[in-house]
Order: sequence, then C-alpha cells, then structure tokens
Amino acid sequence: MDKKTRPVSNYLNKNYLSLIFLYNKGEYESVVAELEEFESNYWRLLEIIPSILENCKNITNKYMWPKDKIHFRNELILRHFGWVDKIKFITGIASFIIFMSLSNKYAEGMSFYAFLLRWPFQCLFLIALIILTYKIHVWMKNFTISKDLIRCKHCGRYTYYMSPNCRKCKKADPVPNFYWDCLVDLENMIVKSAVQEDFYHELKERYSSKYAIWKQNKMEALDSSVSDS
Ligand SMILES: [Zn+2]
Repeated sequence: MDKKTRPVSNYLNKNYLSLIFLYNKGEYESVVAELEEFESNYWRLLEIIPSILENCKNITNKYMWPKDKIHFRNELILRHFGWVDKIKFITGIASFIIFMSLSNKYAEGMSFYAFLLRWPFQCLFLIALIILTYKIHVWMKNFTISKDLIRCKHCGRYTYYMSPNCRKCKKADPVPNFYWDCLVDLENMIVKSAVQEDFYHELKERYSSKYAIWKQNKMEALDSSVSDS
C-alpha cells in the first residue's frame, strides 16, 4: 500500500470515498454541501478534516472571476455530456472506412460527378459523416478547453492540472489531494513542507493541537483494545 494513503485508509468506507473524490476534483462547494447535509455519515472522518473543510469554505466564499465561471460551467457540462465528444472518434473512423471502400471502387479516368452518380448514397453519407465529425469537434471544443484545468486549493482559481505551480497565485502544488491535506498525515509534515512550504507550515501551526488530541485518542483506543483482548 502507498505510504501516503495508509493512515487514512483506516478511515475509509464507501461513504467517504465520494467526499474524497469531490475534494480531489476541486469541487469545493460540493464538499461543503455534502458535509453539511450528511454530517452524521462522516463522523469518523470529521476529526481529521477540519483543515480541508476550512479550506473548502474559504474557497467557496471567494469571488469567482468571469473566466472561472465559464470553466465552472464547462466542468458541469462535461460531467454530464463529455461523452458527446467521443462520438467524433466513431464518426471519424466510420468516415475513414467508407472513404477506403469508396476509393477501392474508383476506376481510373472516372470523373467526380460520374462517381457521385454511381454511388450517391455512400458519397453523401461520407460527406455527412465528415461534416458531423468536424461540427462535434468544434462545438465540444467550447467545453473541452476546461478539461485539463482544476481549481487551485490555495486561491480557488482555475489552473493547469499538470502544472507544479498555480498559474494565478504561483503557489506550489495547486492540485487538492485529500491524503496530503487532511490532518492524519501531519506527521509527514517535514516531507510535505519541502514540497509546499507555506501551505503545510500553516497547516501544522494551525492544527497541530487538534492533531495531538486526535493522536492521543487513537493511542488510547488502541491501548484499550489491546488490554481487552
Ligand atoms: Zn492558486
């Protein structure tokens, strides 16, 4: 098992996975809404995520820039209709197959019009497929421009998923990561601080007492279960 995920995995069940998935996708509003509505489902998790919840609330309360609103809308559309973009591959392959079969039928010296009159249905179908492929690509491009973006966990602006620094606030590692940002792994803060100095220094300073209490409770629970057995 991955060293980073081991402590947190003790807390996981299928209810928690949806929350982790939402946070890792940068859907901060949904994390807050989910926790407010189904708090009782997350009672075990709540003690290790005050840092995450606070972060989500901060971002949720921030002003959303018009450009970010477009990306936010695109994200929603892609979530439900992202599959439409895949149709272009099917129509593209189909048009290639029809084109190849038509080119096999072509006899040397035959004019385009003669060819069209001989196989009108196939030719028109090919043209329709090519137009459809192009139209799907161009139309979906309005939304797929947001595909590789994620909302930075520091500032909430949209940044490139693969980039090591946020393109807006310039802070390191802008992609939210549940395992790294919750309190359970506060022990590895030295390693984390080397990656994201400000963020984890602040996290450690603000939450170290909460973390100490959580750890103490965990040790006590472990001791009592050992002495019981
Ligand atoms: Zn940022």
